[in-house]
Amino acid sequence: MHRSLLSAAVALALAALPVHYASAVPKAAASQEATTQLPRGVIPSHYDIALTPDAASGRFTAKAAITVQVTKATSSITLNAADLRFDSVSVAPAGGAADALNAQAGKASVDADAQTATFAFDKPLAPGLYKLVLDYSGVIGTQAVGLFSLDYPGSDGKQQRALYTQFENSDARRMIPSWDEPAYKATFTLEATIPAGQMAVSNMPAAGTVKLPDGRQKVSFAKSPKMSTYLLFFAAGDFERATVKAEGTEIGVVTRRGAIDQAKFALDSQKDILREYNDYFGVRYPLPKLDNIAGAGRSQFFGAMENWGAIFTFEYALLFDPASSTQHDRQEIFATAAHEMAHQWFGDLVTMRWWDDLWLNEGFASWMESRMTARLHPEWNTQLGAVGSRDGAMQRDSVATTHPVVQHIETVEQANQAFDEITYQKGEAVIRMLEAYVGENAWRSGVRSYMKAHAYGNTVSDDLWKQIEKAAGKPVTAIAHDFTLQPGVPLIRVGEPVCRNGSTVLPLLQGEFSRDQPDRKPLAWRVPVIAQVAGNAKQASTLVAGGKGTVTLPGCGAVIVNAGQSGYYRTLYAPKEFAQLAQNFATLAPIDQLGLLSDSSALGMAGLQPASSALDLVKATPVSADPQVWSRIARVFEGLHWRMTGEMSEDKTRRQRLDAYAVARLAPLMAQTGWEARSGEASAIANLREQLLDTLSELGDANVIAEARRRYAAMDKVPSAVPGPLRKTVLAIVAQHADAATWDGLRTRARAETNPLLRDRLYVLLATTDDKALAERALQLALTDEPGLTNSAAMISAVAQRYPDMAVDFALAHVEAINQRVDASSRSRYFARLAGGSSNPAMIAKLKAYAGANLAATSRGDVDAAIAAIQDRIKTNAARLPEIDAWLKQNGG
Ligand SMILES: [Zn+2]
Repeated sequence: MHRSLLSAAVALALAALPVHYASAVPKAAASQEATTQLPRGVIPSHYDIALTPDAASGRFTAKAAITVQVTKATSSITLNAADLRFDSVSVAPAGGAADALNAQAGKASVDADAQTATFAFDKPLAPGLYKLVLDYSGVIGTQAVGLFSLDYPGSDGKQQRALYTQFENSDARRMIPSWDEPAYKATFTLEATIPAGQMAVSNMPAAGTVKLPDGRQKVSFAKSPKMSTYLLFFAAGDFERATVKAEGTEIGVVTRRGAIDQAKFALDSQKDILREYNDYFGVRYPLPKLDNIAGAGRSQFFGAMENWGAIFTFEYALLFDPASSTQHDRQEIFATAAHEMAHQWFGDLVTMRWWDDLWLNEGFASWMESRMTARLHPEWNTQLGAVGSRDGAMQRDSVATTHPVVQHIETVEQANQAFDEITYQKGEAVIRMLEAYVGENAWRSGVRSYMKAHAYGNTVSDDLWKQIEKAAGKPVTAIAHDFTLQPGVPLIRVGEPVCRNGSTVLPLLQGEFSRDQPDRKPLAWRVPVIAQVAGNAKQASTLVAGGKGTVTLPGCGAVIVNAGQSGYYRTLYAPKEFAQLAQNFATLAPIDQLGLLSDSSALGMAGLQPASSALDLVKATPVSADPQVWSRIARVFEGLHWRMTGEMSEDKTRRQRLDAYAVARLAPLMAQTGWEARSGEASAIANLREQLLDTLSELGDANVIAEARRRYAAMDKVPSAVPGPLRKTVLAIVAQHADAATWDGLRTRARAETNPLLRDRLYVLLATTDDKALAERALQLALTDEPGLTNSAAMISAVAQRYPDMAVDFALAHVEAINQRVDASSRSRYFARLAGGSSNPAMIAKLKAYAGANLAATSRGDVDAAIAAIQDRIKTNAARLPEIDAWLKQNGG
């Protein structure tokens, strides 16, 4: 899955999330059997499903004929089912002509809490092959879980409804009674009865369509390969499809009618990516076709899903609309496709045995997404993004509520919560570090052997390490275990460098970067370290083990540890060495500038360095620095601004000092970048423009706000006043600073908008207002029928960024209504996220009360982490912001 895009403020709020770890000791080799919530003894091998959805009524009926192997005599069969009603149950020995004679009816009982159904039979079933036949019905939801519907304005202005499925991690059971666990792989043959004129899409191509006398049509799909239930897909609606052939595979995009032209960039990208992956993995893509299906609206928790042969992507991450899309959108579309396509191998062809190893799917797909983007679009220079992504993981990984990359999962709810920064970003960062350690070629040949050895099967992490170690001839498993079986972030302390005969000898000490347990005995890691003398092209590397190490570098001068930033650790320099790096900052490689900014911000806030260290680097950054370094600096300012805004004893003069300094520092960049794209400008400039306008608006820059208002006022008469790529930004600035009349005007615009992408955007923008009374109106509006069912939760989240208390109080007063508008699998996370950005001690009691009343004890990981984030923010704001303020006073803020 691709995680949904979060705004900077929400990401900040998420600085810490779920699951306590009981022990810091790496656990022994995983047990040999997968965790299961079902009795063993009955194993499915094939599902025949005939589905008849009734989109208008929100229900479906279906028939399932499941081929099962009974391995131990039993008089009942238990499988997963959620919200399903069974009308008839029968079982018969499979394979013989006398099947029907031996059929016996069964009695169904469901356990709603366990999400299971049990079918009891009078005559016990001896070991052997059987066909279990079920007639049943179920619910079509309005959020992206199970079989669900999405409504959107059609090209003729009339409301349209299309159907889709979302089954990861444990929601296939909402449409198909099944052994809904990743290790129960089986084949599937799906058949659907849908209205005439609609298009149906599944994992495999349609094998036949029959027109029914009542005007409907029955579409049957070819049999799928052996795969996990969570990868099954079905969609039906008034769709269009475009295709292109590559490497013998039909690649397609499917959109609502009228939007297919906007999918061209995704289609072309998929073609290029498939060719690269066929080569990289050494196993060709095994299905006859690969579609990417766009759906209107959004989920609070994912942007796209890797169903085998039928990727689902929300429109904002698939369609490129010249009337409103940006360079950033283009990059997201590419990266999302690259991520989901990597899963066609890592996840779909080879699947983790159980959710403990979810990172094998997500860490790998995230790493591959970055790798592929850098490779096929070097002009975007996206490899610099690795530092930001690693930073997200380290934020989360440096408090006690973190968890190891490989973690034990018992419940469905824990599996839901496992889709987090540790699984995605830390997984990605660890892979990047290990690849740098063994070398690109050894890594790839290890991956190829792993694919070959486990195709159509299930694995644990050690299956991958075994192949990599064999290919590399280096003890990579031990390092991999240190970073995946125990939580936390290593801290490398740089000792005093000694220059001798033109070389620098650099002592290194390993500690642990912990924000809330700084005095605890550090865990031990074997850490691959790469270092360099600034200005010297040659790097040197060492493995820090047993808590210390030494590296000898060619040349003398300022030293950079973690040169190239492939390591997963923070680097702490002594004041003298840090000052030397600050002096040489302008000459460092952009990726190391980003690494230094990131480490010094985090170490400064944790009190290990002066809190103002990052500002020393900002001061040393020339206007000519890489645009992505400036984007990062804009976010550093914005992060401090949010901290100062959210403080309980809010000191307005302090925040004004910061804002004034930041605006003065960013204004020359804005002047140089300009409001409109120059022909042939680098893509990074386009992204910087978007970031600068966003930050300067947040900081209250009067020039930017006035210019956005001027362009907005002219927009309807003179379309060129707001070129496509500026549209969302101008609307966002106007919305943030709107008065009541402007807010009403934006709402009128939202109501009239027929482009679902822009319509969704406008409703969320209404909730980003600075004005408290208008934010209150946005909350009220969110729960009406007007914005549409997938915008409500996003609107409340947007209010929570500025007014967490107001949003949480509102949500707590409307728990039932909110639960209907959030994915069922994600409710426990939603409230924690609303609250996580707060700096108010009272919020902690509210969260505890909510969890006590609504969540099982095993489902409170996200709430615990949100509480930890709030506590950390309260503590660091009080301790560190005065230092920032003193620096600003000294430096003319
Ligand atoms: Zn994914």
